[in-house]
Amino acid sequence: MIHIHPAIDGGFAPAQSGFSGGTLKCHCASNPVTVEVGAQTAHNHACGCTKCWKPDGATFAQIAVVDRNKVRVVSGEEKLHVVDSSATIQRHACRECGVHMYGRIENSGHPFYGLDFVHTELSDEDGWSPPEFAAFVSSVIESGVDPDKMPEIRSRLSELGLPPYDALSPALMDAIATHVAKQSGALPN
Ligand SMILES: [Zn+2]
Ligand SMILES: [Zn+2]
Repeated sequence: MIHIHPAIDGGFAPAQSGFSGGTLKCHCASNPVTVEVGAQTAHNHACGCTKCWKPDGATFAQIAVVDRNKVRVVSGEEKLHVVDSSATIQRHACRECGVHMYGRIENSGHPFYGLDFVHTELSDEDGWSPPEFAAFVSSVIESGVDPDKMPEIRSRLSELGLPPYDALSPALMDAIATHVAKQSGALPN
């Protein structure tokens, strides 16, 4: 049996209409880092890249985006550090338990500037936007997954209703290309 992610393996509930966010908590038993997300998330997905934080035993991360102005560290800020300051997405993680609390893009020219990346399964609230697709599926091999398992993984993702892509979803790839074309002048601004 393939374990995709603990919040995904058993199926997942639809988003609740009117849902307006919740509080993410790291895995520390005492003095956890807490982060308030003051809005519903979008583009939630399973991610197979090697940079996103994955719970123990998970093959994929689950990650969504939200307006960076809606993300606020409530407690434990002193425990946060940036995992890789050279990465496009600055992932702010708890130094003690290793959980990533939010990822932020500081390059204002980036297509996704203004959006933070969050793992909503760190919250006790129900109603978050459910995963819609799986991104960077082939990249799980880089984490040590046997390449022969890939057909089984892709068919399990499809069965769960998450179309597997080896980059981002077509909608997000189109958004990136549109941004690039507007910057280059190939498309009008
Ligand atoms: Zn922690
Ligand atoms: Zn990722």
